[in-house]
Amino acid sequence: MKCRVCAGNAVISEPRLCREHLTSHVQKEVRRIIRWVKPEKLLVAVSGGKDSAALAHALAETGVQFEMLYIDLGIDGYSSPSKEAAARLAKRLGGRLHTVRPPTPVPELKQRKEPVCSLCGTVKRYVMNRFAFENGFDYVATGHNMDDVAAITAIGIASGNAFNFKLSPVSWPRKEHRMAGRIKPLYRISEKEILAYALVHGLPVHHAECPLSENNTQLAAKQLLSGLPGFKRGLYRLAAKMGREGKRELFECRECSYPTTASSRICKFCRLSRER
Ligand SMILES: [Zn+2]
Ligand SMILES: [Zn+2]
Repeated sequence: MKCRVCAGNAVISEPRLCREHLTSHVQKEVRRIIRWVKPEKLLVAVSGGKDSAALAHALAETGVQFEMLYIDLGIDGYSSPSKEAAARLAKRLGGRLHTVRPPTPVPELKQRKEPVCSLCGTVKRYVMNRFAFENGFDYVATGHNMDDVAAITAIGIASGNAFNFKLSPVSWPRKEHRMAGRIKPLYRISEKEILAYALVHGLPVHHAECPLSENNTQLAAKQLLSGLPGFKRGLYRLAAKMGREGKRELFECRECSYPTTASSRICKFCRLSRER
């Protein structure tokens, strides 16, 4: 199999690219988003997985300055190898790694009515934003890829909520609401491309799926879509069109002063911490 650009040996089949051209394809996309938003102080959320590892590596290779945040969710048998992978990544890239442990370990959230992955998502978004805001980062970058965007869109459509999802590659900072900006520099890169990127660069990655994620809708949607590449691209294009941020009204949480859309004016993170 030959690279479509240089006819060298391809390391990936869709698109057919060699190691060098896959690398420049991923890094070009990352550079495009960075030039668009021009972050002054950037925080990269790393999970120990391939997506955030590829993102941090691509940023470092393109000369962008950043620090990293690992959120320790306290999941037995999963969090510690993930944390170790994140630490090895930070060491390899020579970057600073911060670790935050939320007050309620995620396994304790499993007893609630809502699916644990959705509650975990709330906790991660809250911790990321609060850490960024308190430490003067104007943007947080996450490793969401094209397959994530397509799966989230599919779920959104199926639940009639498509417009509630934050699908855009860029959310601008809103300081008055204590919100750091958010960017998804890999949102046009597929999961396969990211996996190949992580492999050819020998990035330290913990490959396991989270043990709490049984019955995870997003994972199921991804598996379904992986057999339907044309449909997946269509969903992605739809997401890109809808991606303009919905201007939902934001209130200040009465407990923590971070933003919430809840009319009760207590944010979901505070509600979760209270229900312990
Ligand atoms: Zn090539
Ligand atoms: Zn709150």
